[in-house]
Amino acid sequence: RIVLGIESSCDETGVGLVRLGADGSVELLADAVASSVDEHARFGGVVPEIASRAHLTAMAPTMRRALDESGLELSDVDAIAVTAGPGLAGALMVGVAAAKAYSVALDVPLYGVNHLGGHVAVDTLQHGPLPPRCLALLVSGGHSQLLLVEGIAERITQVGSTIDDAAGEAYDKVARILDLPYPGGPPIDGLAKQGNPKAIAFPRGLTGPRDSRHDFSFSGLKTAVARWVEGEQRAGREIPVADVCASFQEAVADVLTFKAVRAAQDLGVGTLVISGGVAANSRLSALAAERCAAAGIELRVPRPRLCTDNGAMIAALGAHVVAAGAKPSPLDLSATPGLPVETIVLS
Ligand code: ATP
Ligand code: MG
Ligand code: FE
Repeated sequence: RIVLGIESSCDETGVGLVRLGADGSVELLADAVASSVDEHARFGGVVPEIASRAHLTAMAPTMRRALDESGLELSDVDAIAVTAGPGLAGALMVGVAAAKAYSVALDVPLYGVNHLGGHVAVDTLQHGPLPPRCLALLVSGGHSQLLLVEGIAERITQVGSTIDDAAGEAYDKVARILDLPYPGGPPIDGLAKQGNPKAIAFPRGLTGPRDSRHDFSFSGLKTAVARWVEGEQRAGREIPVADVCASFQEAVADVLTFKAVRAAQDLGVGTLVISGGVAANSRLSALAAERCAAAGIELRVPRPRLCTDNGAMIAALGAHVVAAGAKPSPLDLSATPGLPVETIVLS
């Protein structure tokens, strides 16, 4: 069966196609993405109205590209999955409206699925089926969470979450402090490679013995970077940008991997999946590999292209939902900006 996935929760318009095998396996057939990131860059963050309009113009051409890439035709599609939430209301509505139209026109079932579950499900396109229980570290522009995944289409439980900023948000804010372009992840990742990660001792939020074991906090780190930079500027010294990037990045990767490995041990799970835009970070994956190996935990990190928002992740989750025999969503399905991570599919 062929499952089509549509993503429009933030600033990427994504259309993906996957093949669901009789054995429940999923195979990537097409992954077309159009991004409006450049249009938001001068504002230093996503402007919802601009994102919605960009989805509207990009949706049909991106659909065309995905079909061309796969060599399939619309009539080959057996089910449609769309991001129902969480995300920006106006942005989500464009994808949901498009998905409904295709669903009615093709007379195939529609599944409104969870964007966050999609970030985890995408890994099965690269590394095959997930074990019955695994831990997911989801780190993106809007979320930083530890999730216990007991069947990607069955049960996802939040174990921990950021109490303030998301990891990606911290990257974007620190980039702004350092006058680096938006989004901040890629330029900071690049500059960090030329800097000294031990140059500045930035704080590791919520890692004290009395702190919440599985929650994160990144706003103190962002403030510490801002204070440090201000101090140097006041003293008339030049900012060692590469060292700041490396030291900031080390603090983020240290906390994320330390807490993820500890949570895996607490929960007795042997597999860690890291996904979301920040999973594309080179230091995060390197440190996670080191610490997971030491702890005897299997590490799975999808390739960077699959970590950031795309339609293939929604098609992948949709395929697993279809395979699990879930009830399709009603045709009056709405966009749900605050969809909780536990809700995998809206039926
Ligand atoms: P959410 O999934 O929570 O709704 P989102 O979809 O906007 O948020 P993604 O597209 O998954 O988030 O990720 C975007 C974030 O990833 C941005 O904050 C960006 O700075 C960050 N990012 C991208 N590449 C890297 C990198 N190499 N290192 C660190 N962060 C990165
Ligand atoms: Mg994005
Ligand atoms: Fe995302």
